[in-house]
Amino acid sequence: MKYKHSNICTRCGSERIIKKTWKEKVDNSVVENVLMICPDNACQKIVEMRIQKQRDKNDEIRERYEERAAQRKVEREKNRKTLKKN
Ligand SMILES: [Zn+2]
Repeated sequence: MKYKHSNICTRCGSERIIKKTWKEKVDNSVVENVLMICPDNACQKIVEMRIQKQRDKNDEIRERYEERAAQRKVEREKNRKTLKKN
């Protein structure tokens, strides 16, 4: 996996700094991970909050989608039963 050494903060445009790097074993290869943060602590916190919000939103969307899919399945089942009766 490649990562960019230079990474710009999406909020303030500052060049991000490396907070930490760590190696992770994935299958048979070792992947190097890099966590980059904004040099401005306050800005970084806001960015993290935004990421968290986005994550929550994504979870919500996925849940709703799964609910709808389940609902559709039930309705399909119902329709099939109705068709058989006729
Ligand atoms: Zn920033």
